[in-house]
Amino acid sequence: MKRPDVVVVGAGSAGCVTARRCAEMGLRTLMLDRKPREQVGMKVCGDEISKSHFEATGIDFPGGDEISTVIAGADVYPPSMSNELKVRGWKDFDGWTVDRLKFGQRLLQEAIRAGVYFYPGCHVREPLLRSEQVIGVLYKDMENKEDVRVYSKLVVDASGFAGAIRNKLEQPYVESDIDKEDVALCYREILELEEPLSEPEVARVFLGGKVAPGGYAWMFPKGAQEINAGVGICGGKGRGSPRAFFLDFKEYYPLFTGSRVKDASGGAVPVRRPLMSLVGDGVAFVGDAALQTNPIHGGGIGAGMRAGTILGEVAKEAIARRNPTVKGLWTYNTRYLTNFGKRLASLEIFRRLLQQVSDEEMDFGFERRLLEAGDLMSANRGEGLSLGLFEKMKRFQRGIRNIGLLLKLQKAASLMKKISNLYQAYPSRPTGLSEWQEQVLKIIEESDFS
Ligand SMILES: Cc1cc2nc3c(=O)[nH]c(=O)nc-3n(C[C@H](O)[C@H](O)[C@H](O)COP(=O)(O)OP(=O)(O)OC[C@H]3O[C@@H](n4cnc5c(N)ncnc54)[C@H](O)[C@@H]3O)c2cc1C
Repeated sequence: MKRPDVVVVGAGSAGCVTARRCAEMGLRTLMLDRKPREQVGMKVCGDEISKSHFEATGIDFPGGDEISTVIAGADVYPPSMSNELKVRGWKDFDGWTVDRLKFGQRLLQEAIRAGVYFYPGCHVREPLLRSEQVIGVLYKDMENKEDVRVYSKLVVDASGFAGAIRNKLEQPYVESDIDKEDVALCYREILELEEPLSEPEVARVFLGGKVAPGGYAWMFPKGAQEINAGVGICGGKGRGSPRAFFLDFKEYYPLFTGSRVKDASGGAVPVRRPLMSLVGDGVAFVGDAALQTNPIHGGGIGAGMRAGTILGEVAKEAIARRNPTVKGLWTYNTRYLTNFGKRLASLEIFRRLLQQVSDEEMDFGFERRLLEAGDLMSANRGEGLSLGLFEKMKRFQRGIRNIGLLLKLQKAASLMKKISNLYQAYPSRPTGLSEWQEQVLKIIEESDFS
């Protein structure tokens, strides 16, 4: 393909969905990935995805052997490992664990069927620029060992955590410096268990400084006798390796006894609000490259698919108007950040709260049920932690012995609301961004719960 309209860098879930939507909108779309075609979709992941993302995007539900197992609830354990919160019967939690490779291959096939040209084995090295405008990419064709330049009207960086294009740009609207503490470092194993799981549709999550400082450990069922289990810890503070934490956890948690490791690997995931602007001149960002992940659990498959669907439509409009600039692409920001992006931003505040309360406070909060399953679900939906007056009084009585913790919860609820309102008022034009950004950073600074 000589002169595509759009080049999508990366064929992960976000790249495939964006490329597919671009092609469906009639754009000549080329997608590049450094992997060979048969490895597209392979990704170190917890493999869990909720049904709601498919409902929101119209992408077909996983089916057949793409599904590892159905997920319909979770047990969330505090550091004491007792008084766990049982999340059951919440529709928003319904979903699956998937076979990542098969799921990824399906998304790739759907993109190709929609008309996307896919070149595997192409390592994108850098953006091509005219002044500051991105006008294409330079990639290494790994089979022929040659450098190739491809020019396009728009480049989409869907290269995941690598941010292969974003990290090489110096444009006023493009953030490249991501704080290490906004990244979770992870390690996970796929394990065959000695005994069948007692509740094979229930995920388990473990909190606390011993098991995963600033993060959590998970166990997601992959079948009656198989799990995806791992640890994600907050980066940047020299806390040690996630693998060491996981192996330690494995030593003392009984379910692991006699288990057999089928696969083991590490990875990183951003756990921050999305990029303040998802577009630059001639370029847009999607998926992990745009920091579109849920800050409390790191789930990013759905967040990136939702964004890709919008981006394809915006790209079509901007290219039709011959204006794939920051200004022409701006509606991608306003459509995503005032909706799903708002939800992710408010969850960053919640993440900061969880990271700053002590293990003792967390144990107390679980024991006294200061937060209930409904609160977690409502926070996850972006509806904050708003409680009615009566409910507030009840919890106040339950938490009276630890006023400090109640105040922290109250502060988090208020900041979540504040940031949510601010995202709702995302600037309608690029000129409003810097003032808006200052206000966001002020709320982030205020999110000190120590
Ligand atoms: C341990 C772990 C557990 C997770 N668990 C979950 C979970 O249970 N549920 C969930 O929803 N999310 C989970 N996530 C997050 C989720 O995996 C990501 O948010 C999601 O995969 C991001 O998709 P993406 O398309 O943006 O990026 P990726 O899936 O990373 O795809 C990026 C693609 O770009 C290609 N690429 C990169 N650089 C270049 C280059 N220079 N040139 C060409 N190609 C390039 C890569 O080969 C890759 O195919 C987890 C992440 C980790 C690390």
